[in-house]
Amino acid sequence: MKDVAYRGYMTVDVCGIPFEVKEVESNSRDDCSMGRSDSKMAIITLNKEMPKEVKESTLIHEWIHAVLDCAGMGEYSGDEKLVCVLQNELYRAGFRIKYME
Ligand SMILES: [Zn+2]
Repeated sequence: MKDVAYRGYMTVDVCGIPFEVKEVESNSRDDCSMGRSDSKMAIITLNKEMPKEVKESTLIHEWIHAVLDCAGMGEYSGDEKLVCVLQNELYRAGFRIKYME
């Protein structure tokens, strides 16, 4: 869990689990408009073509889904309105997801 360049991908911490963050083309198979979170595979996918700010905000959104899933709170993760409110307010308050070293 040391060198990003060596690993070849970025990871974020979700409840102590390193989740791979993949940026994909919008027309690729993985795409689900802006992003998606796969807690079973520990992968967060982001649309590569979004502006930096949207990407940062979308990463917060997918991270919240992953955290709720990993915490056994899947019923809250399925509440898109809840996840969006948390995403927007965390983003507005200056919260950003840090990539693991
Ligand atoms: Zn969502």
